[in-house]
Amino acid sequence: MSSQATPTLRLTGIGASPGVAVGHAFILDRKRIRTPKLRLADAEVEPERMRMKTAIDLSDRQLAELKDQITRTEGSDHALILEAHRLMLHDPMLVDEVNRLIVEDRINAEWAVRRTARKIKHLFDNIPDEYFRERRSDVDYVADRIIRNLMGQVVDEEVEVPAEAIVVAHDLPPADAAMMARSGRVAGFVTDLGGQTSHTAIVARARETPAVVGAGRASEQISPGDLVAMDGTRGVVLVNPSEDQLALFREEQRRYQESEQLALATKEQPAVSTDGFRIRLNGNMEFLEEIPSLLAHGAEGIGLYRTEFMFLDRKTAPTEEEHYRAYKQVLEAMGGRPVTIRTLDLGGDKVPGKTKHEKEPNPAMGLRAIRYCLSNRELFRVQLRALLRASVHGNMRLMFPLICGVSELREARSELEACRTALGRAGVPVGKRFPVGIMVETPSAATIADRLAQEADFFSIGTNDLIQYALAIDRQNREVAYLYRPLHLSVLRMIQGIVTAAKSANIPVSMCGEMAGDPLFTLVLLAMGFDELSMTSGQIPVVKRLMRRVSRHEAVEMLQGAMELTTAEEIERYVRMEMDRRFSGPEGSLLSGGHDVEPGPL
Ligand code: PEP
Ligand code: MG
Repeated sequence: MSSQATPTLRLTGIGASPGVAVGHAFILDRKRIRTPKLRLADAEVEPERMRMKTAIDLSDRQLAELKDQITRTEGSDHALILEAHRLMLHDPMLVDEVNRLIVEDRINAEWAVRRTARKIKHLFDNIPDEYFRERRSDVDYVADRIIRNLMGQVVDEEVEVPAEAIVVAHDLPPADAAMMARSGRVAGFVTDLGGQTSHTAIVARARETPAVVGAGRASEQISPGDLVAMDGTRGVVLVNPSEDQLALFREEQRRYQESEQLALATKEQPAVSTDGFRIRLNGNMEFLEEIPSLLAHGAEGIGLYRTEFMFLDRKTAPTEEEHYRAYKQVLEAMGGRPVTIRTLDLGGDKVPGKTKHEKEPNPAMGLRAIRYCLSNRELFRVQLRALLRASVHGNMRLMFPLICGVSELREARSELEACRTALGRAGVPVGKRFPVGIMVETPSAATIADRLAQEADFFSIGTNDLIQYALAIDRQNREVAYLYRPLHLSVLRMIQGIVTAAKSANIPVSMCGEMAGDPLFTLVLLAMGFDELSMTSGQIPVVKRLMRRVSRHEAVEMLQGAMELTTAEEIERYVRMEMDRRFSGPEGSLLSGGHDVEPGPL
């Protein structure tokens, strides 16, 4: 074994797909190709343009083939990523600019493609949203393919990955990640680039393969065959660990696998307290690829589908047909389970194509979410029409984000009804009426929850924003992250008020902010009386397991004790102590393993 080739090294990156893996490093050497740089003579310009066109056609055929292959073996969800790459291939921003450089600057196609890719990536750089920044590697992926084809190089070679390998790469195209994960030989992925929302991270999560992305220079620092222990939850990679470190990792791996086994075993069990209080546990999703994992972890429905993510990796808005197809797919995949689709939470930073100059000084308080949709009616109508049409395919609920007052809700509802009538007149089937609810995520909505409850069919509390606005801390700002406290008395009182208003009006109340999936808060939320909680797939089994071990009665007592205290620190200390007392022993690890106990940013 060559495990001593490199001294012990600890690398940290972003935990992008949970799980612990130990294996030998397989370095995927897909380093950037050297781009030849040539000046063209006049007579070479036209042939160069033709060469470019041929390379695009060839790349398109290759991607179409890959897409078919992946659709056959993986299902159509992963194939959507390749479809996005094909669209990029034909994007005028790329093709027109490359042709312009060939004609005007008289440079060869390879150089023109590289320069254009750099320019497009630079546009993404200036957008603070992480999802956008992650699209830079998609641009590289497409540009590399065109350049390789221009240079007549081999593309899409099958890589022989040894069994139980930790695949280490500078960047990993999602198609490669999907193919390798499917081979069943990959124990984990470590990449230098990438973030939580990079497509490779999504593929890894969907395949339930541990992944650490954004790990700096891991592909240079790790040598082939090095022993690697990685934790895809915490984003830690240990290279050539000592015997003791390895033993700790193996123990963690055993515990993780045990809890995953348990997750599968409890998949069909309801989340019900020992005295019979039942809470439905739903899943949060951004991408279609997440559905299989949500179902495998026992999601009883979708409590939040963040539809703006579908919107963000492109410069033009999705068409009504594209919206419709995505919603239909989710509804069908969930087979009659409730699917809560949130209308676009766009605006502020999340607006594709916005220049620095146009940026709002305070985007969180700017033209965002429902305000953005009510100011961009046609964009809103496109989505509403698609939702109305898709509703015939399953059990849909519609949810409006960032509602502050009753007039906003009325206006949004009347737009929905106008779309329904127009579709009906045109003879388009729109199905039965479905519940229309709101996110309660502003202090204003929390304060008038009793009035909103008269007109909304359900509430879902968005704690990520509610806490941000209630405590006046920017959720994106690391400097104030320590002030982000879900157990602040003001937050607890707001949540209690919202639940009480919903109960009095007899409408269901859910929570879909990050607080819902954090096991530290499970008893607090059980006590509050939620009908539903919605979270990421990995959190569902842990929350369910805790809930099934306590009575609602004792949870209520604990909450009363907590709310008699005053400061966030006191309440946190008390809740943590109560949780530890109840869930000590092997279960104790669930509490600390499933979440970061320090209050933190999202
Ligand atoms: C929230 O604010 O809690 C929420 C779930 O919405 P988002 O995180 O998408 O703003
Ligand atoms: Mg929100």
